[in-house]
Order: sequence, then structure tokens, then C-alpha cells
Amino acid sequence: MTARTVIHQKNDPKCPPNMDDYGAVRARFTWEGARRTLDGLAGGGLNIAYEAVDRHVRHGKGDKTAIRWLAKSGEVTDISYAELKTRTARFAAALESLGVKKGDRVFALLGRVPELYITALGTLKRGAVFSPLFSAFGPEPVKARMGIGEGQVLVTTAQYYRKKVAPIRADLPKLTHVLIVGDGDLPEGTQSFDGLMKRARDDFETVTTQEEDPALLHFTSGTTGKPKGAIHVHQAVVAHHATAELALDLHESDILWCTADPGWVTGTSYGIIAPLTIGVTMIIDEAEFDAERWYKTLQDQKVTVWYSAPTAIRMLMKTGADLAKGYDLMSLRFLASVGEPLNAEAVLWSNDVFGKPFHDNWWQTETGAIMIANFAVGDVKPGSMGRPLPGVDAGIVDREADGSLKDVTETGAVGELALRPGWPSMFRGYLHEEERYKKCFVDGWYLTGDLAMRDADGYFWFVGRADDMIKSSGHLIGPFEVESALVEHPAVAEAAVIGIPDERAGEVVKAYVTLHHGYEASDELERDIMAHARRALGSAVAPRLITFAADLPKTRSGKIMRRLLKARELGLPEGDTSTLETFS
Ligand code: AMP
Repeated sequence: MTARTVIHQKNDPKCPPNMDDYGAVRARFTWEGARRTLDGLAGGGLNIAYEAVDRHVRHGKGDKTAIRWLAKSGEVTDISYAELKTRTARFAAALESLGVKKGDRVFALLGRVPELYITALGTLKRGAVFSPLFSAFGPEPVKARMGIGEGQVLVTTAQYYRKKVAPIRADLPKLTHVLIVGDGDLPEGTQSFDGLMKRARDDFETVTTQEEDPALLHFTSGTTGKPKGAIHVHQAVVAHHATAELALDLHESDILWCTADPGWVTGTSYGIIAPLTIGVTMIIDEAEFDAERWYKTLQDQKVTVWYSAPTAIRMLMKTGADLAKGYDLMSLRFLASVGEPLNAEAVLWSNDVFGKPFHDNWWQTETGAIMIANFAVGDVKPGSMGRPLPGVDAGIVDREADGSLKDVTETGAVGELALRPGWPSMFRGYLHEEERYKKCFVDGWYLTGDLAMRDADGYFWFVGRADDMIKSSGHLIGPFEVESALVEHPAVAEAAVIGIPDERAGEVVKAYVTLHHGYEASDELERDIMAHARRALGSAVAPRLITFAADLPKTRSGKIMRRLLKARELGLPEGDTSTLETFS
């Protein structure tokens, strides 16, 4: 590990990093101090949307461009902080007119369109809770998440509504208002987003929310049971702001491009909130990945800070260095990546092609903000996730037979990555699942579910998941949700789902299924099951591969041993199979 390449960074004197010395800043950093750099609401309280938008207007920076939106069509729209203030106030007023109260939940099923940002921030101004949905979800994942979240309002497009919501609307009794973005015919039971906005007043006063009031609901997948709704509170904005400064090295003068999908936590924490709290201009590209379009965007928009993900970086690498070198990317100052392991090759490639390494960082839905990072200051270790943020204590732990935890202090030893609770964006619960939440905390640690090791310099290295979760193109997929959809096919008796390595997506979903009596395995049946899964789950979650099996390996208590299937699939040691019941 220590023999690996290290990139010694030279800092640009024209724009020195926010953090000049990791050790010194870590020693003096406090979350209370970070809180004091924000304004807070007049008369007390804290509101994410106020810190992200209104604060800048109050400080005389209303004319600055907050969002530069690049439509798929090529049209460019700038939205200033002042305009964003007015439009989010309108949306908050619109929600009030619909009877939405403090704490009620507003969902968005949208791509990267201006209405997404207005919905998120306007919802927070109303004191309601914002919850984004991944637009590649099919009706089943949408139903599960909106059901748990008891969403009263959904903002979406007519197309998404017809395909993903109308088929399950009857199962969502709490869903009272569906607001449709865009022109065209309104589906029955919906109303126009624009129409509502036009009728709303724009002098809505941000609701006085307190630090511990719920603000965001982010769904993440579990290995068993339903998806988990992680609750974040308004105080999270303290961590969004501080980590944007420290881990992404964001300065007010930056032009940030965060390429994350808006349906996942990065899309909210760093695709909406954190950069706006710094006062940067954010580039929002409506289009999906296209290497040439991406390089052109970096060049033409003079992007200075680029936050992306390993799948995208791997796709860029595939198109070759020559393509990248054909563009003027001199404006780029800081590159960062999150979501899944970033191979050392990708970091070295970017250092060669862009003259700067991608800075890998680590966090998860539950942590709400970046926890471990390679920083602008100090060495970058390609292949490592970096070091804990100031204000964050990370450790490696092992479970003892009695369930207690033991600190793993030995350099290079693998254990579970754990964090000492207490940072402001830490999740405050899984909605309606107190027990599941409590189980994450043992002996004063929050257990992350990841296996990692720490080197002699205090850098953390990702080893794998401690559970059966699948990471495909940066999206965490719970095997249980996929298995549940598969067994709804009339031919499928049982299903077991694992992730298998894939060059581009990191992992792809593979399913093993057993069939009910009277059904025969065939290519046609495989296609039919595949189509059923895609309809129900959406293409991003449905299995890419299906294998028919006579039986599935199970423990004596009846649990499917996905890990064993995976070991067999990958030709790895099978580990302890003493509790194995059957398998052929
Ligand atoms: P999510 O909650 O969907 O954001 O997924 C969080 C999980 O993604 C983590 O627990 C890790 O398993 C994985 N992950 C995120 N960032 C990294 C990274 N930099 N390196 C390796 N795995 C990562």
C-alpha cells in the first residue's frame, strides 16, 4: 500500500486552497464555529433555503448568476440569486395555498430542470420536507418510497406521471396534489406547476425552522425489507457549507459543475444546497452523459470545480485522452469524485490528461455530506478515499462475538468503517423505523456498512461492502427490492440477486431465479422476466442478467446466501458454509 504512487499537489497562488494545512485546520475546527459562518434566520432558527439563496440577496449579491441552465436543446438560461429568491418564495406560497404545512413531504420526480431547484428550495422555505426520486425508477420503487414518505405533493412531468405514477396512484392515498412541469395536456388528477406559480404571491416569508426540524428525506436501499427513508434536518446546511469549502475547495468565485443525478443525495447536497450556500454559479446540464458535450461544457462554461463520479470518469477514459486534449480546459482548478471506488488508474489518467487528479471522496446518504476526502492541500493517494474531514472522527472497527466493537488500530487491517456521531448532517432517523436506525449505532460508533482499512498516514482505503448491497453506476441497489419484483412474475418461485463486476458501471445486477412447477427455463421466459422487471423497477434497477437455478443456497433459517452465490460467480473462496441448507 505504501509503495503506491502519491501525487504531491502544488497549489495555485492565485487561488490558495480554503484549507491551508490539514492538521492545523483539523485541530482548530469546531462545528459550532462552522455554524457561526452562516446567518441564521432573523429572530432565531435556521433554514437551508435561506442560507442557500436569500442570504446572498441580503448581502447585496442578488444579481449574481446562481444557476446557468443548459437545456438539452442548447438554449442557455441564467437565474440570478434574486430571481431564485422570488421563484422559490412563490413556490413556498403555492404550497401554502395547497394546504401544505410544516413537516409535510413534497416529492420531485424530475430531471435537471429549473423547476427541480425551485421545488427543492421552495419546499424548504415553506418548512416542508423535500424528497427527490430517481427518474429512472419504474412504478414499484416510486410507490415504495412515496408510500413510506406519505408524500402529499409530487412535482413531475406529464410523461413521467403517465408512465411511473398513474399506474400506482390509487395505492398512494396521501398524494393529494400532482404538479406537472412543462406544456401540453395535463393528465387527469393533476395541475399545472406554472399555473400555480403564476397565481402565487412572491413575498412569502421563509417559515422559521429550527436546527432540528426535518428538511430532507433521502431514500437509500437496504439488504432486507423496504427502502429506508433517511431524515436530515435543517442543521445539515452547516455540514454542506463547511464540506463544500474544505473538501471541494469551493470559493465564491467558482463555477461549479456537479454532474450527479438529482434523484440521489449528491444531487441535493452538492447539486443544490452546498454550492449555493457558498454563492457560486452552478452549471446545470439537462442532457445525459456525452463525452463531447461534457468537454465542451467544461470549456465553454469555464468550469473551475467539477464534481463527478467514477462511472462517468471511466466512460471519459474510454473515449481516449486525445478527445479531452482537443478542448481548452485551463479553467479547471479542482476535480472531485464520489459514489463508488475510484480506481487509481482513473486518478492518474486525469492527472495526465487534465493536469489535475480527481480527488476521491467518500460519504453516503446517511452521512448527508462528505466525510472522507482527498483535499486540495496535501498529497493525493490514487485509489484512496482520503482522510476524514475536520470535525469528523473515522475509525475501523471489528465486531466481537458478543456484538460489541473493537477498534482496529493496526495499519492496513480490514474492518468496518465507522464514524463518531455528532456532525450536523448526520441522519436523524429512518422514517417509521426506529429499530433499524438504532441498529446503526454500537458502542458510540455509527456503522457505515463499508469495509475499509487505514494506512500509516491516516488515509482510508475502500475494500468493499460489509453487506449484500449493489453499487451500479453509483446507485445503491438493495437486492431485496429487486427480488421482490422478480417473484411477482408468475413463473418465478424464488429469486436471489447479487452484483457482479462491470467495467463501466462498477457492478451490474444479476439474478438467480427458481421456477414454479410447470414452468420451463427458456430464452423466451428469460426475456419475459427481464421485461417484467424493467417495467416494474425501471432500467437502472432491473437485472441485466438472469440465470435459472434449480435451487438457491439458503441458511438453515431460510435466508438466501447471496454471498455464496457471489463467491461462486467470481470463483472466490466460499467462506463459512456450515449453516448452508441446500444448493444444487
Ligand atoms: P449512497 O448512500 O447511495 O450514497 O451510497 C453510499 C455507498 O456508496 C457507501 O457506503 C459506499 O459503499 C459507496 N461509496 C460512496 N463513495 C465511495 C468512494 N469514494 N469509494 C468507495 N465507495 C464509495
